[in-house]
Amino acid sequence: MPFVFDVQRAREETPGCANVLHFNNAGASLLPEPVLSATLDHLRLEAQIGGYEAADHAQEQSEHTYDAIATLLHCSRDEVALIENATRAWDMAFYGMRFQAGDRILTSIAEYASNYIAYLQVARKTGAVVEPIPNDKYGQVDVKALQSMLDERVKLISVTHVPTNGGLVNPVQAIGKLARQHAIPFLVDACQSVGQMPIDVEQIGCDMLSATGRKYLRGPRGTGFLYVRRAFLEQLEPPMLDLHAATWTTQDSYEMRPDARRFENWEGNVAGRIGLGVAVDYALNWGLENIWRHLKALAYQLRTQLSPIPGVIVHDRGVNQCGIVTFTIEGITPEEIKRQLTTEKINVSISDYNSTLLDMESRHLNKMVRASLHYYNTEEEIERFCKHIDRMAEAAF
Ligand SMILES: *Cc1c(COP(=O)(O)O)cnc(C)c1O
Repeated sequence: MPFVFDVQRAREETPGCANVLHFNNAGASLLPEPVLSATLDHLRLEAQIGGYEAADHAQEQSEHTYDAIATLLHCSRDEVALIENATRAWDMAFYGMRFQAGDRILTSIAEYASNYIAYLQVARKTGAVVEPIPNDKYGQVDVKALQSMLDERVKLISVTHVPTNGGLVNPVQAIGKLARQHAIPFLVDACQSVGQMPIDVEQIGCDMLSATGRKYLRGPRGTGFLYVRRAFLEQLEPPMLDLHAATWTTQDSYEMRPDARRFENWEGNVAGRIGLGVAVDYALNWGLENIWRHLKALAYQLRTQLSPIPGVIVHDRGVNQCGIVTFTIEGITPEEIKRQLTTEKINVSISDYNSTLLDMESRHLNKMVRASLHYYNTEEEIERFCKHIDRMAEAAF
């Protein structure tokens, strides 16, 4: 049977599709109706009966979010912590590790700025060293090079699965295999990959993985989560503890929670957490395999239609490319491209130098336009988009 994705239903269930051509899904995706209603319903309940009372009332619903994420990642619910965004989720893992002078932290060239800044801060404080793993000829983390870098001083391998600035998908499974063989902790920034493609933490072989709600999962803003493998939990010390993460037991003692929620803190956006759970269910309902297959085909189409336009350069790298498409047009700045597209109700974003400095520097790039697709985008939208790009390129050339 030919593969058919019910784009029409996806669009009917996405109110924003009526207003904008949204190619900024790597920024924040359009919410589907069920996520919107669940989130708004809870906010309304808070207004009607009180915030704590509403939380009691929705206890089951908010607990369900852990189960949904566990299903999504193929882990258990006690390995999941809900955190306000991917950065803080990642931080709770990274800053929970102990480093000493001479320890080596190996990372990817396409690493996200917030991660790299954290490595540098910890390196400064402890004398640990940060070493980017070279890329292979496709721009991916070179697994062979990584293998040759490993020794007993390597205390962490920390890699971005899908970088913010392009189609690249790093070979996390091969990296995880090496990490396991050498018993080196492995942290994955899966912020752009969760929701785009199937993620299985057992298959990847990672000890920690962080993600956000608003990007490819289509959840509300201000939501994120962290996975910590149960057997690894005791090797991490949460950098901050509060009365939710731990219990104050005597004047000079406390006990940490036994599960991954020791990385959480007490106050949170309950409506957002409920919405996140609904978003994960919604993605699971479409099927991550189906989403991935359809999304790759759409992005391929965009790349193939952009490439022949004189003056347009598509910059994506990697063997297995995802839904994020980046390009520049000779003679016109990314800001100006974005500005002109905005007047047509077309949303894109700009990937700048400082977000992925090592990668941009090595490719002599400064800024790129990022058109990130999702499964609710259509071939007609791609055509409309390319017509505008064509016009701009012609005017600029
Ligand atoms: C967006 C992004 C982050 C940060 O996620 P937040 O939810 O904004 O904290 C981290 N890593 C990558 C690769 C990203 O694209």
